[in-house]
Amino acid sequence: MPAAAPASDWIVLKFGGTSVSRRHRWDTIGRLLRERTEGDIPEQPPARVLVVVSALSGVTNELQAIIDQHADAVDVSARIEALIERHRGACAEMEVDAEGVLGERFAALRALAGDRRGVSADLSWQAEVLAQGELMSSTLGVAYLRTQGLAVDWLDARDWLEARALPNQNEWARRLSASCAYIGDDELRMRFDRNARLLITQGFIARHPDGGTAILGRGGSDTSAAYFGALLHARRVEIWTDVPGMFTANPRAVPDARLLSRLDYEEAQEIATTGAKVLHPRCIHPCREARVPIWIRDTERPDLAGTVIDHRAVTVPGVKAISSRRGIVLVSMETIGMWQQVGFLADVFERFKRHGLSVDLIGSSEANVTVSLDPSDNLVSSNVLDALCADLAEVCRVKVIAPCSAVTLVGRGMRSLLHKLTDVWSEFGRERVHLVSQSSNDLNLTFVVDEALADGLLPRLHEKLIQSGAMPVDATEVFGPSWRQIEASASPRRVSWWQRERSQLLGMAAQGTPRYVYHLPTVRERARSLAAISAVNCRFYALKANPHPAILAVLDSEGFGFECVSAAELEHLFAVLPTLDPTRVLFTPSFAPRAEYAAAIARDVWVTLDSVYPLQHWPELFAGRQIVLRIDPGYGLGHHEKVRTGGREAKFGLAPESLPEFIAAARATRAKITVLHAHVGSGILDASHWPQVYAQLVELADRIGTVAAIDVGGGLGVPYTPDAEAFDIAAFGRELANAKAAWPQYALWIEPGRYLVAEAGVLLTHVTQLSDKLGLRRIGLDAGMNALLRPALYGAWHEIVNLSHLDEADGTPADIVRPICETGDMLGRRRALPASTAENDVVLIATAGAYGQVMANRYNLRALPQEEVLDD
Ligand code: ADP
Ligand code: ASP
Ligand code: MG
Repeated sequence: MPAAAPASDWIVLKFGGTSVSRRHRWDTIGRLLRERTEGDIPEQPPARVLVVVSALSGVTNELQAIIDQHADAVDVSARIEALIERHRGACAEMEVDAEGVLGERFAALRALAGDRRGVSADLSWQAEVLAQGELMSSTLGVAYLRTQGLAVDWLDARDWLEARALPNQNEWARRLSASCAYIGDDELRMRFDRNARLLITQGFIARHPDGGTAILGRGGSDTSAAYFGALLHARRVEIWTDVPGMFTANPRAVPDARLLSRLDYEEAQEIATTGAKVLHPRCIHPCREARVPIWIRDTERPDLAGTVIDHRAVTVPGVKAISSRRGIVLVSMETIGMWQQVGFLADVFERFKRHGLSVDLIGSSEANVTVSLDPSDNLVSSNVLDALCADLAEVCRVKVIAPCSAVTLVGRGMRSLLHKLTDVWSEFGRERVHLVSQSSNDLNLTFVVDEALADGLLPRLHEKLIQSGAMPVDATEVFGPSWRQIEASASPRRVSWWQRERSQLLGMAAQGTPRYVYHLPTVRERARSLAAISAVNCRFYALKANPHPAILAVLDSEGFGFECVSAAELEHLFAVLPTLDPTRVLFTPSFAPRAEYAAAIARDVWVTLDSVYPLQHWPELFAGRQIVLRIDPGYGLGHHEKVRTGGREAKFGLAPESLPEFIAAARATRAKITVLHAHVGSGILDASHWPQVYAQLVELADRIGTVAAIDVGGGLGVPYTPDAEAFDIAAFGRELANAKAAWPQYALWIEPGRYLVAEAGVLLTHVTQLSDKLGLRRIGLDAGMNALLRPALYGAWHEIVNLSHLDEADGTPADIVRPICETGDMLGRRRALPASTAENDVVLIATAGAYGQVMANRYNLRALPQEEVLDD
C-alpha cells in the first residue's frame, strides 16, 4: 500500500437521495457544513468542504423509466412533467423560486425528450437523461443553502472526473457503468483549491472520453465522493445516508442486524461488493489507495457515531456481515462428451469476454462449469444472454438458471470458521443451493439459491451466526448496537420495577447474596393481561417456571389453574394451596414412571398422556377416566434448540399419525379423550402461532369426537434484552378471538409459565473480584451457574446492571464471570458496567424470575440462593 500522502484541508460529504429530499435534512446539511468549515468539531481545524449530492430520492428510477419507455412519446412527456412537478414541490417546501432556480434545467430535460438520439435510446442520450437528477438536486441545494446564509458555489463534477475506458469493457459499461481516474497530482489540487471553500457538486456523473456525459452506475454517487476524496487527498469522505452506518445485514430486512462501528477497507469492500447497498462497491478502492477514511452517517440522526472505515481498524476474526444480491443469473455449462478437455475453460470464458460480461462466481466439476453474472456489473438483458448462449452452444451444453440470489457471509478467516457454521449449513440444507463458492482471499462464502428463498433466509441465518459464535458480536470494538436498539432508543425506554425499587433491593442484598427477589405486582399485572383475553376459557400456570409459594398464591387468587410436570410438583402445589380444586390442575409429565401417574390420578387432576405406552401397559390406571392427549404438531419453535418441543427429534407429544392406535387403546380401556393439547416451545413472539395450533388440533378433535377443550400450550415470549420487543399481548388476544370465533365448539385453554414470572424476578449478587488478563477485563460475581443456569444451558442473555452505581457511564467492556469451576460459568461476554465497578458492589441480573431458582443446584457444594418477595 502506498505511503499516506498528507491530507489536504478538504472534507468530502456525500448526501444520498433521501438526505436531499426534504427541507429539514437540508437544514442538517447546512449545520454540518458550518461545523466543518468553522471548525466547530473539537480538535478539528476548519476544513474546506465539497458536498456531493444524489438526485432526490426516486428520481433516478423515474429517469430510467423514461429511458425504458423511450418509444412512447406521450408517456415520456407525461413522466417528464411529473418530474418537473416533483422538483417544483421541493422548491416550494424550501421556499426558493422554482423557475428562477431550475427553469433552465427543466428546459434541458424537456429538450432531451425531443432529442433525435432518444429514438434509438443512444447510450450517450441515456447518460444525459440520467444525469439530470443530480444536476437538478445540486442546483437546488446551492440555492437553498445560499438563502440560509452559506457561501456555497456550484461545481460541475464532469470538469473533474474523467471516465476512462477499461480493457474489454463494452460500450454500455463505458457509458453507463464507468470508472474514473482518481490519482491526483499537485497541479490538479492547486487548480481545485482556487474554488470556493464550500462547494456542491453532483454524484453519479463524469466526463466521457468523447466529451459527453458518462454515468458511474446505479448508486454511484458514493463513488463520485470517493474519487474526489482520493483526488484531493481529503481528510475523509463522509457518506450521509438513511441508516447510521454499515450493519451486519441490511437492517431493513434484519432488524437485529448490528452496527459495524469499525471496519478495515478489505472487509468493507467485501460487504459492499456482495450486496450492502449502503456503499457503492467501487467507492472503497479509491479511498483505500489514497488512505482516506470513510465515515458512514445518518442524516436523520446526525449525532450517532456510525461506521468508520480506515486502515487502522482492528481485525477481529469472524463473520462480520451477511448480504445478498438479487437478480443473479447462473450459466451452467456442460462439456459435450470429453472429460477434462484441454482448453474448455478458455473456450467458454473467451465467449463471456466477447460479450463484455464479467463473471462473478465460479463452480466447477470434471464435466461442468457454472458461473454467475451479477446485474450490477453487467447489462444482463435477455438479448445479451441469448447471444451468449448461442455462442456457448458451439462448445458446450448451456443452461441458464435465473432469477437467483447470492447470499454471502463476509468476514476474515472464513475457512477456520467452518466448524461454527453447522447451524448455518442446516438452514441452507432446507433449500436448494445451486452453487457454493468460497473466495480465494478467505473473506467470503457465497451460496446461490432461488431468488424467492433468499429474503426469508437472512434473518434466520443472522440469528444462527450470532448464536453459534461465528459472528463475534461481543467484540464491542467492532460491533455496535442493533438496528432495533437504535430505533428503540428514539422512543422512551421501559422503566423496570427494579429501577423504582432500587433502594429496597440494595437493602435486601445487604442481607446476603445470591438472592432472588420476586415482584408480585408484576406477576399480577401479567396475570390480569391474560385474564382479560375473553376467548380463553381456562388459564393454567406452568409452575415449573417458578413454584415459589407466594407466586402460586397470587396466581390462585387471580383465577389461574396450574400445570405440574411431576408428582413432586403436585405435592408442592397442594401443600401450598390445600383447598385447590383438582379440576384446576393439569398433570403433564414426560416419560414419568407409572407411580407418578397413579399419584396424579389419586388426586383426581387432569392427566396428560403423550404416547400410547401408558394406555397399553397400565390400562387399569386410566379405565373409565377422562384424559388429556398431547399432540406433536410436527414442528418446534422457540429461542433455543433445547426449548423446542415439537418435531420428530423432540421427545414430546403423540405424532398425529399414531392417533388411530391411541384412540384404539383408549377405547379398549374406556378412557375418554376430553382435551387435546400441544406445546411446541418457548420464547415465541409470533402471535399467529397459537391460533395455528388451535386450528390443527380442531381438525384432530373433530376426528376424535369426544374432545371438549383444546389447550394450545404456552411459550409466550419475554423480552430479555432491553431493546427486544415486548410480547404483543393485544395481538395474542385478537388472534385467539379469531380462532375461537371460527371454532366456538371447543373450550380454549392456555398454559403460560415464563410470561407470568420472568420479568417479575431479579437475581441480586455481589462483585467478588476484578481482573485484567492480557487486556481482557473480568468482573467476578458470587452467583454461579449453580444459581442461574440459563446462560450456561441455553446461552441465554440476561441484562446485568451495577445496582450500586446505576446511572454511571459505562467503562471498558468486561466478561462477567462466576465462581463455579467450569469455563462455561460465564454470565455475559464483553458487557459494559460502570468504570467504577468494585468489590462488594451489588450487581442485578434482570428477567430472572423464570427458570432461575428452580434450576439452581449445589454444584461445587455452593449454597442455594435465598428467595424473597416484594409486594405493594
Ligand atoms: P443513499 O440514497 O443514501 O445512497 P442507499 O439506499 O443507496 O442510500 O443505501 C442505504 C440503504 O442501504 C439502507 O437504507 C439499507 O436499506 C441498505 N442496506 C443494505 N445492506 C445494508 C447494510 N449491510 N448496512 C446498512 N445498510 C444496508
Ligand atoms: N442517483 C443515482 C441512483 O439512484 C446515484 C446515487 O444516488 O448514488 O442510482
Ligand atoms: Mg446509495
